[in-house]
Amino acid sequence: MACFWCNALTEDARFCVKCRKRSQLTGAYAVSEYSEVVKSLLRDYKYHHFRGAAPDVAKLLIEGSSSFRQLIFGKYIVVPVPSTVKRIRKRSFDHSLLMAREFSRRTSGNLVPALRRSGSLHQVGSSRQARLSQLNNLMHVPGRYAQSVDRATILLIDDVVTTGASLEESARALKQAGAKHIFGVVLAKKKLGG
Ligand SMILES: [Zn+2]
Repeated sequence: MACFWCNALTEDARFCVKCRKRSQLTGAYAVSEYSEVVKSLLRDYKYHHFRGAAPDVAKLLIEGSSSFRQLIFGKYIVVPVPSTVKRIRKRSFDHSLLMAREFSRRTSGNLVPALRRSGSLHQVGSSRQARLSQLNNLMHVPGRYAQSVDRATILLIDDVVTTGASLEESARALKQAGAKHIFGVVLAKKKLGG
């Protein structure tokens, strides 16, 4: 495998030794680069309200990640990185939840939608907009999922990773809730620095 962050060669599903120190995740895998094909598939899926594409997207994710998933020992639960509330309103559905549901149906991991974005702050002022968007990027695990997450191995599912900030924030919240190992599987990765 290649390290998700820096592409250095690794022997297992984990990041290289250097990147392990600066990531909340144990390892991650991108099925493809952010190519034109992936771009147009996701455009149909996300922006044209094309729910029917969910099984196709999930299939790509499942088939593309099978060798990576074989390197993860033991049982895991499937957790989607939640879409922003604004995006869900725009599209009328949560594409990452649909994708993760398909994924868990066809693999051995149970779906646990354990992450929420913290987006509701009642505060006024000039910086309100900035505060809101900042808060929207913070995540937490609601109490009803605490037991499922505690000591669990987690497979985080997302479509496109740009900077890795959402993956890291998701992993931080899951770790705080007691998760043991967190692995990410994403459909496409834009070129990351480093
Ligand atoms: Zn690395």
